[in-house]
Parts: sequence; structure tokens; C-alpha cells
Amino acid sequence: MKITKVSAIPMSVPVPVEKRHRTDLGTKVKSDATLIRVETDNGLVGIGAALGSPPVVKAIVEHELAPEVEGENPLFSELIFEKMYNGSRAEPALARGVTQADESRRRGMAMEAIAGIDIAVWDVKAQALGIPLYQALGAVRSSVRGYASGGWAPGDEAEAELGGYASKGFTACKMRVVGRDGFSIEKCLKRVEAARRGIGPNVELMVDAHGSLEVAVAIKLAKALEPYDIAWFEEPVTPDDHAGQAEVRRATTIPIASGEREFTRFDFADLLEKRALDIAQPDVARAGGLTEIRRISALTSTYGVRLAPHAWGSGILFAASIHTAMSSPNCHILEVTQGYMPMMWDLLNEPFDIRSDGTVHAPDRPGLGFTLRADALDKFKYLPGPEFVF
Ligand SMILES: [Mg+2]
Repeated sequence: MKITKVSAIPMSVPVPVEKRHRTDLGTKVKSDATLIRVETDNGLVGIGAALGSPPVVKAIVEHELAPEVEGENPLFSELIFEKMYNGSRAEPALARGVTQADESRRRGMAMEAIAGIDIAVWDVKAQALGIPLYQALGAVRSSVRGYASGGWAPGDEAEAELGGYASKGFTACKMRVVGRDGFSIEKCLKRVEAARRGIGPNVELMVDAHGSLEVAVAIKLAKALEPYDIAWFEEPVTPDDHAGQAEVRRATTIPIASGEREFTRFDFADLLEKRALDIAQPDVARAGGLTEIRRISALTSTYGVRLAPHAWGSGILFAASIHTAMSSPNCHILEVTQGYMPMMWDLLNEPFDIRSDGTVHAPDRPGLGFTLRADALDKFKYLPGPEFVF
């Protein structure tokens, strides 16, 4: 079996004006994704999805990565990853058993393109084996606890918003530290109090600052949040300040989570060495695909750090995250978006199996187990321009 073609197709979906709202990230006007297709000489087609700016990712895939992947056997998935990561140095790197990453591919959109291809390669590989992808990776479970991820409502409105997540059956819910009413510690506490009223004492509550706070403010907020039984405080500070995140962690009893904006196991190694982390949140489509996230899972487990994969984007990304959760022993929970995300729910033929007790179940179909709807490429035509405006 040989890979005959690797291609990338930019996709978008606009956010309707009435659903747009300003957060610390700006105002989201559309969502982008890049569909990756890997075709083989025996007629299989694997799909993946890449984060990043679609036209840039498409250029990286077609000009840089596809020539290195075409002609390879998808069962040699580690080789394909190492070829993409090491570029022209792949052969001497593998011969010597070292990493000699291509300078431009270690992080950023090049790694997001690599991750998208890697997901599609694993889809093809598991299809060829005739088994679900998580079983090809090595299954540890076939269902996992999901958590509702949302929580932007201002003030007392957080009670109904978070309460709504709990009434869907979720036993854990996450809210943003910065609400639609902006940020102050007082505003945040008011919203957390309201959220706690809405979900009651027995549903876990997490908070996410999107890396937007300074260390001192994050510590002050963490201390103020301690009475509310917070299951984790996510991205208290920028991912560029691992040492600062470790300071926050040392200053509070609330577990610290981060990782959605980190690339490869090397970024996680630094977080672990700095003791900055209780819960690791790699994104399969950013950290390096299924090949690299599996290494991150093993690495984090050696530090007693649990895995809660970040899953925010298209249905393909969520499908790959399901297979990650089912094959990572230290994964304890999976993110289930509550945001406006048509490419999560309307892109694929097969619905996700999210039950009324908040658990997410793995598909029993071969490969990724999800296929693109016939009208997907017409429906989600690429729209130029940035996703967020200020
Ligand atoms: Mg987050």
C-alpha cells in the first residue's frame, strides 16, 4: 500500500451577526479549517484537519510536505511523521536515532499542517487494518467522560448558561474567566458564584483564562476562586511564560491546566520540568497529530499529569480527539464544545455519540469512523480574511 496523493482544501463557516460577541480573543466572524485528504493506491481515502490559516496551510502541505509523504506506506506512520518533522535531515536523523527538526517545522502552521496530514495517515492506516483508529493506536477504553466547554455569559446570566450544560447531563463544565462583560476579579467571582448556583455542588466547574492574565493577577484570582471548588484553572498566563505558570501553580491549591497552544512533546517537556502543570491539554491538530500526542500522553503520565485533550474546531478534529482519549491511559476527560460551531456538527455523515450522562463514546467503524458529507465542500467554502477582528 502506498500513498498516492496528499491534498489540502480550505474551508470556512461565517458566524452570523446575531451570534457574534466580543471576548478577550476579539470578535469571531468566521471559523476556518483545512481539510486534508490522503489517498492510497488501493482506493482508500483518509481525512484529517489542520488548524492555522487555510491558504498558508494548503501551500505548506502541497509544496513542502506532500512530496515527502507521497510514495510512503501509511502503516509506516512514525516514519512519515519523522520525515515531515526532520525534512531534508530525516535520513541521517533516523539513522543516528536523533531529532534534527527542520527549522521552520517545529512549531506554528508548519506543525499544524504536519498534524493534519498525520491524522489522515492514521485514518487510512486504521481503515487498512479494518479496525477503529483508537484500537489501532491501542485501546484503553471505548467511552470517556465529556465536559461542556463554554461559559461566556455576563454576571448572573452565567447561572442559566452553565445550568443549561449540566441539564444536558454533563458532570463537568468549563467557563471563561473573561466574560462578555469583560474582566475584573469581582466580575469573575460574580459569574463563578452564579455558575456554581446553576450547576449545584456536585458538577465539576473549571475556569479558562485563555492565557490573558499577568502572573500576579492570576495568583490573586486563583486565591479568590479557591472557596468555589474549581477543578482546574486553565491557561492562567500566556503560554510563553512557563515559569510564570509554575509560580501560579505553586501559589494555589487549584490544579493548573494548559497545553492547547503548545507544539510537540518538547514544549510539554518544558512545562513538566518547570512543574507548571497538573493537567495537560494538547490539541491533536496543533501539538503534532496522533503520532506526537501519543508521545505527549506517555511523557505527561510519567509526571503524574493527566490528559484532557483540547478539542475546538471541526468535527474531524473532534473525531481525532475521541480516538486520542480512548487510547491514552492518563486521559480522564474530553472537551465538548458549546460554542457556535457548524463544522463540528454539520460536516460529517455520522453523528457523534454523546450520551445523556455526558459521556462520549467511540465509533465502532474502521479508521476515524467519520466521513465527509457530500455537500460539505459546497457548504463550507473558504472565506478570505482573519477569524477574529478587534
Ligand atoms: Mg482553553
